[in-house]
Amino acid sequence: MDYAPRPKHLRKNSGGAPARKAPRGQAQNREWPPALRGFADRVGTVWNFLRAYPRLSTAGGLLLAIVLIAAAGDYWWKEMRWRYILIHHTASDIGNLDYYKKFHVEQRGWSDIAYHFIVNNGSMNTTIGQIEESDLWKSRKANLSTRNWYANYFGIAVVLVGNFERHKPAPLQQEALITLLTNLATRYDIPPERIVGHREVQNTACPGKHLNMNEIRAAVKKNL
Ligand SMILES: [Zn+2]
Repeated sequence: MDYAPRPKHLRKNSGGAPARKAPRGQAQNREWPPALRGFADRVGTVWNFLRAYPRLSTAGGLLLAIVLIAAAGDYWWKEMRWRYILIHHTASDIGNLDYYKKFHVEQRGWSDIAYHFIVNNGSMNTTIGQIEESDLWKSRKANLSTRNWYANYFGIAVVLVGNFERHKPAPLQQEALITLLTNLATRYDIPPERIVGHREVQNTACPGKHLNMNEIRAAVKKNL
């Protein structure tokens, strides 16, 4: 046996592989659960970059803030601006979405149909109470259904096919309307008293004397 002190460089780890000093990044990674190590590495890389280029980082931060504010504004505009639901009739017992879209674009010169939703009456290959959603609604554009700009920008426009100055809507059509209104009122947090007939915001007969708006509002209120 050799009892002489061993040379310093042989004292530790003489039995196995020499201990490797891990680079700083890897040593820090030991604290992270394996699943998060890749993520931690990326955060480290970004952090090092931010420290190395402070001006670029400030510009990037501002740009990010602008993008986030624009996205939030876009979301607010599309999903949170709705304050009213406006009800109309077409004043004619014939038509569907395509028919009125064509009429409004070709005869009135508008960019699209004036309404967001149309509740059909069974004419032109529709079924009674069938609801069609216009492109105007899909892109959440303002409706063109009244002369009141506020109602047009902040209102959801629903039209029923029919002339309710002459007759009542069919029960199935009225039921479909109430279901649609209940869904919209729930989704966009619109109280039933803000469901208004066209004639309640403007001097017009629309949506006709046989469409009882109080009855419609009461029915929606009961469903909420
Ligand atoms: Zn109207």
